[in-house]
Amino acid sequence: MKRITDNVYAITDIRGCNPGYVVTSDGVVIVDTPQLPTKAVAMREEILRKGPIRFLINTEHHMDHIFGNYFFARLCPVVGHEHILDNFWTSVRGVDPYSYMVEVVKKDDPQGMALMPLEKDLRVNPPAITFSHRMTLRVGDHVFELIHTPGHTRGQIAVYVPKEKVIFTGDTVFCECQTWFHSSDPDSWLRSLDILNTLDADYIIPGHGPICKKDYIPKQSALIREWVTAVAVGIAKGWSREESVEKISFLDRFPMDIGQESSGPMVQQLNVERIFDFLQGKAERFQ
Ligand SMILES: [Zn+2]
Repeated sequence: MKRITDNVYAITDIRGCNPGYVVTSDGVVIVDTPQLPTKAVAMREEILRKGPIRFLINTEHHMDHIFGNYFFARLCPVVGHEHILDNFWTSVRGVDPYSYMVEVVKKDDPQGMALMPLEKDLRVNPPAITFSHRMTLRVGDHVFELIHTPGHTRGQIAVYVPKEKVIFTGDTVFCECQTWFHSSDPDSWLRSLDILNTLDADYIIPGHGPICKKDYIPKQSALIREWVTAVAVGIAKGWSREESVEKISFLDRFPMDIGQESSGPMVQQLNVERIFDFLQGKAERFQ
């Protein structure tokens, strides 16, 4: 894993989310887990050489952030937003979560199949400690501020570590790669980005893409506005949901994140459908 500050480590060049961890004077706090088994086990071994694991924090329910929790079961409490439990370990686009993960591991981490548990032995290891608005964890000489930042998902959180001037934003920020809106409320998302912009931070560890600075926050906000505007303009022209899917694409703007290249057209479709439904009042609002 790459060292970002004195005590913060993260990895941004693997398939799945960007997991990271913070080494304190009294153990290690993890933010999200790798979804590929070989990467999750490698991260666990690396961390255990640095100290006991005190907490594992999940920033959201999407599989690429939570599947690796299995490899940390019984090592520490898991923490997340109360709404992460609404969708934790649920089907992915109609496929049951276990079958979905077997396919991902077969394709992207063949060696990891040897580490894959049988379904009956799988401990999905969801958060045992949840909160609704904000939570502060104090571990050693570090403070972790967990902030509800709904938008990309309802139970989305950011983890702010003031001592390191680092924000783990989860998928509230997709840096220089395609943004997924498939379970989003874009209005809440924009408000959450405004909140993150008030924090004193030198580094943002995004959910996907390279480490960035706070100057990426307005770029992420602008992209969300552009997406919503594109769909709203289509609706104003009388386009149906299907026509909007045909005509709207942001694929020329950014690459897909690592290992997702073939999902580009699907993500455009999911994004248009969700934003279309949202603008028609048919998708839930989070705030
Ligand atoms: Zn996500």
